[in-house]
Amino acid sequence: MQDDDTGVDEAGTYALFLHLEEELQMQVGALGPCSFPMGVHVYAGSAMGGLRARLARHVRRDKRVHWHVDRLTTATGCRVLGAVVFTSPVLQECDIIGSLEGVKGVDDAEVRPPRFGASDHGCRGHLVWMGEEASITQVAVAHLIKGITGGRWLSGEEIWRPEDR
Ligand SMILES: [Zn+2]
Repeated sequence: MQDDDTGVDEAGTYALFLHLEEELQMQVGALGPCSFPMGVHVYAGSAMGGLRARLARHVRRDKRVHWHVDRLTTATGCRVLGAVVFTSPVLQECDIIGSLEGVKGVDDAEVRPPRFGASDHGCRGHLVWMGEEASITQVAVAHLIKGITGGRWLSGEEIWRPEDR
């Protein structure tokens, strides 16, 4: 196995924290026209092929748009703040989204746009907008780590390594 200083070569589920500098409007595949408010959005995903490779892909801007979330991570003004990773084999993306909706002191949390990132799931969607202030990130990360066992925060810098460029 490769030496991995992030310790997350395992498969698992993650909450990717993104920050949008301003509101974005765009077409997202079969979802049609979508709007994304400025501020902090959290995308829940699963990476059965390994968390590290998947997170590195999210950070990379130069990629073929394949998933809904690629439309965001390749957009101007979108920055990856970091991710909370979980290696539980049973945790689902929707569990993460549900937990984030319950963050105390965050009244704005909203699953939107409907069905984003969840084409193959029966749920409401795998993206939740947490509000405009970047400081919400700390509150939401703490809530996730406290609420779901085994979560670990990786900053954008920890995800991004020069060899991934
Ligand atoms: Zn789901």
